[in-house]
Amino acid sequence: MKQRIGFIILLCVLCGGILGIPAWVEKPAEVLELPEGPRSFDQSLQVRVLLGEQVETMLLSHYLAGVVGAELPEDFPMEAKKAQAVAARTFVLRQAGEGKHSQADVCADSSCCQAWTGEMKPLAVQAVEETDGLVLIYHDELIEATYFSCSGGKTEAAAAVWGSEIPYLQAVDSPGEEQAPRFSEVIELSAESFAARLQTLRPEIELTGAAPDWFGMITYTEGNGIDTIDIGEQQFRGTELRSLFGLRSTNIRFSVTEDTITISTQGYGHRVGLSQYGAKAMAEQGSGFEEILSHYYRDAKIKRLFLSEEA
Ligand SMILES: [Zn+2]
Repeated sequence: MKQRIGFIILLCVLCGGILGIPAWVEKPAEVLELPEGPRSFDQSLQVRVLLGEQVETMLLSHYLAGVVGAELPEDFPMEAKKAQAVAARTFVLRQAGEGKHSQADVCADSSCCQAWTGEMKPLAVQAVEETDGLVLIYHDELIEATYFSCSGGKTEAAAAVWGSEIPYLQAVDSPGEEQAPRFSEVIELSAESFAARLQTLRPEIELTGAAPDWFGMITYTEGNGIDTIDIGEQQFRGTELRSLFGLRSTNIRFSVTEDTITISTQGYGHRVGLSQYGAKAMAEQGSGFEEILSHYYRDAKIKRLFLSEEA
């Protein structure tokens, strides 16, 4: 029997048994017997996916393979793909419970929910099958399994980017990402156009004299991003500057002359949670998906969900 996703997830988390937990995960006090029921969690649930204007209902397994196939290049190592599959499964199950979209559980816009492709790539399908039903849990709740392309060497804590403290989303080292195609970027602006752009955000800003004199104190986040920077007696957040100048990340450095402002960034994305290129580097160094996930989602546990007869 196929079940709709939304109403069943909470029940799964509250009542589900715990099976097949990797050895490194803390053992639960009681391991429950697997009740009779469907063998595959992912092939037992349906998910409503908003594709443009259309809502398409598909098996969770089909949806997740489409996410892994869209989010990661085909040549990524299998353990990185499996880490992505677990993060994507956790993301969609939590999202379905939060009701962000009224007619669907999730959309296929990567800036809103998760990217998706209808092309079923064999290695993506395999990654989903080999992690069937596995999700990330913190204090008995599905975590906010955020992820991004590459961090530039260190991820950010959720609090530094979104303002609220989330225990399992902390700044962690993320070495080996230099191979990412969007690892770093340099853009150059005339001092005049830089000033004009800042004025759209702070019309009252005073930028007189030489450009190097406009810049004041900078504070940094634990993840090497700019937290705040004083420019022309005004204070800006790193996140504001990222959005204002269309920068790839908040890991920003300025180089300033009389006429030119050079902005260098490292990393691509919000840099909170799992780094996709960091996962690739870890997998290439021999880490399994469990180790990758426990590195990027500190103190989160991996748990296998299943559907019981009653569900
Ligand atoms: Zn969405």
